[in-house]
Amino acid sequence: MTLSRSGPGFKSQWEHHCDNMILLKNCKYIVTQNNKREILKNKDILIENNKIKDIGSFENADKIIDCSNKIVMPGLINCHTHAAMTLFRGYGDDMNLQEWLENKIWPIEKKLDGEKIYWGSKLAIVEMIKTGTTCFNDMYFYMDKVAQACVECNIRSVLSRGYIDNNYHKKINEMLEEINKVKELNSDLITLALGPHAIYTNSESSLKWFKEYSDKNDLLIHIHLSETKKEVEDCIKKHGKSPVKYLYDIGFLSHKVIAAHCVWLSEDDIKLLKQKNVSLVYNPASNMKLSSGIMPYHILKELNVCLGTDGAASNNNLNMFEEMKIAALLQKVNKTPILLAAQEALDMATINGAKALRINAGSIEPGKLADLIIIDLNRPDMIPLHNVVSNLVYSFDGDVDTVIINGKIVMYNKKLININEQETFDKINSFKFY
Ligand SMILES: [Zn+2]
Repeated sequence: MTLSRSGPGFKSQWEHHCDNMILLKNCKYIVTQNNKREILKNKDILIENNKIKDIGSFENADKIIDCSNKIVMPGLINCHTHAAMTLFRGYGDDMNLQEWLENKIWPIEKKLDGEKIYWGSKLAIVEMIKTGTTCFNDMYFYMDKVAQACVECNIRSVLSRGYIDNNYHKKINEMLEEINKVKELNSDLITLALGPHAIYTNSESSLKWFKEYSDKNDLLIHIHLSETKKEVEDCIKKHGKSPVKYLYDIGFLSHKVIAAHCVWLSEDDIKLLKQKNVSLVYNPASNMKLSSGIMPYHILKELNVCLGTDGAASNNNLNMFEEMKIAALLQKVNKTPILLAAQEALDMATINGAKALRINAGSIEPGKLADLIIIDLNRPDMIPLHNVVSNLVYSFDGDVDTVIINGKIVMYNKKLININEQETFDKINSFKFY
């Protein structure tokens, strides 16, 4: 006789991980990312339901995790990605953005359907959880399928449907249908946002529509901005001004705008972005790979700068630990070695991302959402430990032990709880694109 999961008295492993109180006991280090950037030693973290209840010394909980040789830190927040583009990992390398989009990505995206996007998103989520990302800001098609994967895997996300109004992509009413489908999921893990792809793929009227819809519904807007020199030059030719000035003049910019890339900015652009409180996303690996350039971080310090991997087609992975390292190293090239210190890279990947996405996470403090990751210290890339933040940014490879999202354990001792990894790999390997 087989036990039924819903049978009386049966407590499955899954149900066990949904218990209300989790105690992270004797954490060797807690990288709080609070205002003082404190690193606490030998303390406990008590999680109740989906929030951090307190930090201190506690005894009882439904589940106790021994963290005596571990670092506990906030889960990383990937502020710009296209999750399902894991499907195109390694499909188009060693070319610039325009050539890559026009000759490789846009043609193959025509072959996508909801099923492929669901599985591609799931693969991305597997990779993200295993490397400590607990929240991501996504822009892609079939947003309802991305949402379904997020809910099943219990990962937090801000989802926007990538919108391009000058070619084969679907029109606004179809996007609104997808928004409604996501709303029907009624998940507190998902925040809806809007995703006009860029100024060169959207008309002025389309961009104005997004701004108006964002104001009416209080939604964030996720857009690619000033990614390449060509984008800026084309905009100056067409509109007589830079992409930032163009968006400013049509009334598009606000604190709700999350602008990815921002590689080619003038001093005037930066003043406008600051005036409108726009959050910027630094995507160093993608910018290097597509030969786009280097974000001028040294003159952006007063703005909220977050970190993103971009899609796996231009990175080619979604490892935010690797991204933090690249973020810091790239700014040191031709500049100064103190520029973009390890702590700043960690801030970009945690607290700054939470601020941009308006998510009550990014630090370990009572009342914050319980989005946490646990890292083992007994491994070569964490030894010795002269400086916790240095090891996290410069030496750790991202192979985290345990991940908690919204107060639920989604990976325990490197084992994913809600996801059948092999099924995901097999499914994607079975897809035919050409
Ligand atoms: Zn992108």
